[in-house]
Amino acid sequence: MTARALPDTDVAVRLLLVEDDARYAGFIGATLMGAPSAHFQYDHAASIRAAVERLSHAAYDLVLLDLGLPDVIDLDGLTTVVNLVPDVPVVILSSAEDEALALRAVKAGAQDYLSKGTTTGEVLARSIRYAIERKHSELQIKRLAYRDSLTQLPNRAMLMEHLDTALKRAHRERHVAGLFFIDIDHFKQINDTLGHQAGDDVLRQLGDRLRRSLRNNDTLARLSGDEFIAVVEVKRRAGLVPIAEKLHQQLKAPFVISGRELFVTASIGVSSYPSDGGDPQKLLRNADRAMYRAKAEGRDVYRFYTTRVQGDG
Ligand code: GH3
Ligand code: MG
Repeated sequence: MTARALPDTDVAVRLLLVEDDARYAGFIGATLMGAPSAHFQYDHAASIRAAVERLSHAAYDLVLLDLGLPDVIDLDGLTTVVNLVPDVPVVILSSAEDEALALRAVKAGAQDYLSKGTTTGEVLARSIRYAIERKHSELQIKRLAYRDSLTQLPNRAMLMEHLDTALKRAHRERHVAGLFFIDIDHFKQINDTLGHQAGDDVLRQLGDRLRRSLRNNDTLARLSGDEFIAVVEVKRRAGLVPIAEKLHQQLKAPFVISGRELFVTASIGVSSYPSDGGDPQKLLRNADRAMYRAKAEGRDVYRFYTTRVQGDG
């Protein structure tokens, strides 16, 4: 469920009103319907539990959230909503005595807050529209900061965050996390002979192939240039061998670039948590070393990191 840009004025803005006070919910509903400048549709939930149910089954442009709900305390209601639908903006409805809490809510991820006593239709409509715009810009900035613009894959910054999370989960569940460092062989020749555009095409197509060969909860990132990183979690280290095979196989079919078939190979280095390192940097360094060994041993192969050959890094 993702936030859409501010709908045109003739398209209804879909709201979820989360408010336990039936009279106030009725008042907000009437205010929304009477707002002159926008067209709203809303559903009503009287508790966080009911809101979660709604948000899990339908798409909304914004949540109007009362802070004094019966089934949550402090900012737990907001946290629940933000965790469930991080891309949906939230406007807080607060009573006068909740003002300090409402301010904290804005710091914790709400886009705005409105004081219950003073809210007119125009103020409400404007706050809703600004909140949707603000959330949309926030998401765009995040996408620019975390995505590689050529392949739309996660970039290095996002990779490091995912890797950190994957290692914590592997530690907790006593699993193994595998890191595959994939570097195209002689990629410069493609740029030099067919042009930079053709090189870009190869990177995009390879990114697609690798992504499709992995599972949804695995990570595939573009680190830089012709380097891709895959992060997967498996029960035992031996489980990484078929994945290395599968990634390697993705290069076997030719790439069609400007109507011509092009054969490309890559060298793959593999490191794994916990045996080859306990933190993202060390695992990345050791996968890089293993990749260099693959290059040194003829390219178009995968190699697992070993301390015996490569020293402890
Ligand atoms: P090796 O087999 O040793 O990996 O040789 P290589 O030619 O692939 O060398 P290397 O991996 O060091 O070089 C990667 C090249 O990728 C260097 C740079 O010219 C090119 N490159 C980096 N970013 C981009 C990009 O965004 N698009 C294109 N087309 N080329 C890029
Ligand atoms: Mg290369």
